[in-house]
Amino acid sequence: MKKLLKVRLIIMAHPDDPELACGGTIARWTEKEQVYYIIVSSGEKGTRNKNDSLFDVVKKREEEAKKAARFLGVKKVIFLRHPDGEIERIKTLKLEIAALIRHIKPHTIVTHDPWRRQFHPDHRSTAWTVLDAIMIARDWHFYPFLLEIGLLPYRAKKLLLTPTDKPNFINDISSTFKKKIKAIKIHKSQLAQLPGWEMRIKERTKRDGELSGFEFGEGFYQMSI
Ligand SMILES: [Zn+2]
Repeated sequence: MKKLLKVRLIIMAHPDDPELACGGTIARWTEKEQVYYIIVSSGEKGTRNKNDSLFDVVKKREEEAKKAARFLGVKKVIFLRHPDGEIERIKTLKLEIAALIRHIKPHTIVTHDPWRRQFHPDHRSTAWTVLDAIMIARDWHFYPFLLEIGLLPYRAKKLLLTPTDKPNFINDISSTFKKKIKAIKIHKSQLAQLPGWEMRIKERTKRDGELSGFEFGEGFYQMSI
């Protein structure tokens, strides 16, 4: 019998978040496993030009996300198109994510760390919503209609939060660090809005890597589900 590939599911707020947070890890996983993205908002407000049409920004950013994902070997990118800057921990979003977890059946779920001191409200609200959705996906008595459409309860094995202030697990990305940088560069529309990003990524991955004796590493906070 053919062995099923391990599935990793990255659920993040914006089109460039997966590569910025853990592009090196994603590149390592896709060597042997399947990776899916769920992007909650297509980042339509991510422009500094007041004359830009939000529809054009979405189109560009979704294209960049798909291109970066393809470059890293990701199997599929799913866009939920919630409003940029106003993602909320609401029931509909929990249900969308829970249903997709039951459908995709990931071994690992990766999202933002809601406890990290970070400015962006979308990163916090996405993270809280994912945590709530994991429980809805796991237990029998949430939303019985899911059973009727064939989505049985599913418990992922691992939950990883990143970036994090307190990593308890470091993934060695020395072999894929350059690929991570190239993948971030595919998000052309965003680079001018991320001043000094390359230096910051280098410093963070070096610092995280040092904790486990790697040249470059990506740090995660691993939680049990
Ligand atoms: Zn973001």
